Amino acid sequence: MQHRTIVLGAGYTGAIAAGRLARRLRREDIAITLVNSEPDFVERVRMHQLAAGQDLKLRPLSEMFAGTGVELKLAKVTGVDVDRKTVTVVDANGAEELAYDTLVYALGSGWNTQGIPGVAEHAHEIASRPGALRLRERLAHLDAGLAVVVVGGGLTGLEAATEIAEARPDLDVALAASGGLGDWLSPKGRGHLRNVFDKLGITVYEHSAVTAVEADHVATADGNTIPAAVTVWTAGFAVHPITKATALEVTGTGQIVVDRTMRSVSHPDVYAVGDAAYAMGPADKPLRMSCASGGPGAWQAADAIAARLTGGKLPNVPIRYFNQCVSLGHREGLIQYVTADDRTKQAVLTGRLAAVYKELVCKGAAWAVANPTLALPTRRRRVAREKAATTSAVERLA
Ligand SMILES: Cc1cc2nc3c(=O)[nH]c(=O)nc-3n(C[C@H](O)[C@H](O)[C@H](O)COP(=O)(O)OP(=O)(O)OC[C@H]3O[C@@H](n4cnc5c(N)ncnc54)[C@H](O)[C@@H]3O)c2cc1C
Repeated sequence: MQHRTIVLGAGYTGAIAAGRLARRLRREDIAITLVNSEPDFVERVRMHQLAAGQDLKLRPLSEMFAGTGVELKLAKVTGVDVDRKTVTVVDANGAEELAYDTLVYALGSGWNTQGIPGVAEHAHEIASRPGALRLRERLAHLDAGLAVVVVGGGLTGLEAATEIAEARPDLDVALAASGGLGDWLSPKGRGHLRNVFDKLGITVYEHSAVTAVEADHVATADGNTIPAAVTVWTAGFAVHPITKATALEVTGTGQIVVDRTMRSVSHPDVYAVGDAAYAMGPADKPLRMSCASGGPGAWQAADAIAARLTGGKLPNVPIRYFNQCVSLGHREGLIQYVTADDRTKQAVLTGRLAAVYKELVCKGAAWAVANPTLALPTRRRRVAREKAATTSAVERLA
């Protein structure tokens, strides 16, 4: 009688949660199935690099999880029934239903077209590997002098515009942002950003909300038209529609509402981590979609599940922010230091050192996925079946 735990999604947070849980509990007590549609771990934070033509290290999930006790299932999740406690997955052999005792939902997010006309038809996205590969192909065949417009002045837009401009100085790269360039950064951070954009020859359209995308241009709210042979859309992420089709309590945008242990507030057998979770962070502000908060959230979920199953003390993994790490091409970067609740401080790190720092952060994130207990000793504990069942029943009634 093993406790059946299914983790949906082997991105940053699902992979960390599955691996950490496997190290926390005795193998004979728990069956952990990790479902993912792609066979490799995708370093999503490097999708702009992939799109700009860099080759990324292949990280097969089967190698990452070999010998961990986590069973990998390569299949696409098409539905979750939280009342029947089943998940529907589809692979080459057809559809299958998997039953769970505990579910960890970590399917991440995709691009957010915001319902703007023409985005889905004409724009490219870099929120997923297939999207980044399509853009890579398009850029590889784009003639010199043609215009690329990156829409979105957030971290992803800044990284995409600079990476493309650095890789293809022969293209006419522009960034369209609804606000000012890096307007949330410290004055030093903003200044550095502007210098790098100038050096790379990126045209910036500030306070230019894009209202429509056509095959060869984008239109902005102030009536302007910006030529664009290629449009790259980075205006936010959206949760997959699967969550909204469940009975789970979700936000208007489909994020699963969880408590501080990352457990669904409506269904105690379900946990959500990463981009798909709506959790409160420091200063009671919702955590933003990021690896920065997603990783600690995944540790919290795994440790909370282990504690509840073993009758142990509930953990309190601190989730806080330290910095925003922005790559600005291969050679330049910006590390903006922030408060625990993500407010900008004055201090920044810039230049080559910041680029190296960001590279180490990306490498560290991938390392954390492959080493989910970090340097902690592995202490596998027994599942106290009756206690776990009773706790779960009581919590259901509460
Ligand atoms: C270009 C770019 C740069 C970024 N840079 C940073 C950064 O510098 N710092 C930072 O903190 N954050 C950054 N982010 C955000 C960060 O990547 C996400 O917040 C993070 O990946 C979320 O982790 P996750 O586990 O929720 O989702 P993901 O990492 O996206 O993992 C989701 C997993 O689920 C799988 N999946 C999805 N749908 C299905 C399905 N239906 N069936 C089966 N499997 C499925 C996917 O294949 C994937 O493996 C960046 C994002 C992008 C796109």
